[in-house]
Amino acid sequence: LLQGSVLPRMMGRAAAAPFSTTSGETVCATLFPGDGIGPEIAESVKQVFNVAGVPIEWEEHYVGTEVDPRTESFLTWESLESVRRNKVGLKGPMATPIGKGHRSLNLTLRKELGLYANVRPCNSLPGYKTRYDDVNLVTIRENTEGEYSGLEHQVVRGVVESLKIITRQASLRVAEYAFHYAKTNGRERVSAIHKANIMRKTDGLFLKCCREVAEKYPEIAYEEVIIDNCCMTLVKNPSLFDVLVMPNLYGDIISDLCAGLIGGLGLTPSCNIGEGGICLAEAVHGSAPDIAGKNLANPTALLLSAVMMLRHLQFNNQADRIHNAILQTISEGKFRTADLGGKASTSDFTKAVCDHI
Ligand code: NAD
Repeated sequence: LLQGSVLPRMMGRAAAAPFSTTSGETVCATLFPGDGIGPEIAESVKQVFNVAGVPIEWEEHYVGTEVDPRTESFLTWESLESVRRNKVGLKGPMATPIGKGHRSLNLTLRKELGLYANVRPCNSLPGYKTRYDDVNLVTIRENTEGEYSGLEHQVVRGVVESLKIITRQASLRVAEYAFHYAKTNGRERVSAIHKANIMRKTDGLFLKCCREVAEKYPEIAYEEVIIDNCCMTLVKNPSLFDVLVMPNLYGDIISDLCAGLIGGLGLTPSCNIGEGGICLAEAVHGSAPDIAGKNLANPTALLLSAVMMLRHLQFNNQADRIHNAILQTISEGKFRTADLGGKASTSDFTKAVCDHI
């Protein structure tokens, strides 16, 4: 995917200084609009940021399913360099062919940028009725290994093998992130989600690392929950959970389940935390090919991801105003998108959010 021959590495280039949050200064952030509904919802974020007066200058890079004819590559070195330099960015969904074709661009980005933790908050939206009105949890997903290591091969005809890699280093790092997140965000408990009764070595090592880190945080309660029990409990009583930390694949699945608890994938944001302080925000959902190009997508998940990015930059004033505008728009109900049972288009909803800022 990243083709060295067409992507000259900028060797020796000095690392960029971390972003500055001095008031009045413009911050550069990378924007990957992505595939499918990505460009439509990215446009929504740009419009809302303009109205809220967010001092961000976007460096936009096309990264997606189509090979860029200029570089003959799916992912350019310049686009990665942009994230490394800016340290903050917003990413639209990127499609991956099922069972064939190129390797996931999402995986490549995570590996290249060392995006080791994916933080996925999931909160009930006031005024939007689902079975629960008290969901308030955060899934923290290990983002670099597990079943997503990309090590799959045919052993003999009719038999394939896929390797699940768990390392002490990556497990300690994500566990440390989860406990630190809990401590600094007023959370009380971390639950490590696993299947170590069956995957004794891999999930066993993950749990061992979580326990080690838990000892450093006596003020945060720690528990271990087997993944199948976790799913059942989430569906029955999600308020029992606070911060959940887990290996890669479980995090992918559990966070979609959590999205379902509050109204669907159109609502759930995330942020990838990377080496060197990188924050690359993105919605939990994918490229939604079934509604792409129809002005039907709900931009809330990407907007809330952008709000996470603003909080990371300590642009709390703008983050609060945009967050409140989104919540008010959904709560009032007049401009809900189709996934929430409404009739509003992406642009109707975006305009309503802008009007509430
Ligand atoms: P999906 O999340 O794209 O869509 C699942 C369902 O949710 C669809 O019915 C879709 O219309 C709906 N949906 C998703 N986002 C929505 C939104 N903002 N507003 C309204 N409805 C929304 O999942 P999928 O169909 O399994 O995957 C499609 C593609 O996306 C695949 O190529 C997959 O690999 C890719 N994908 C990318 C990411 C990512 O970039 N991080 C994540 C998941 C899937």
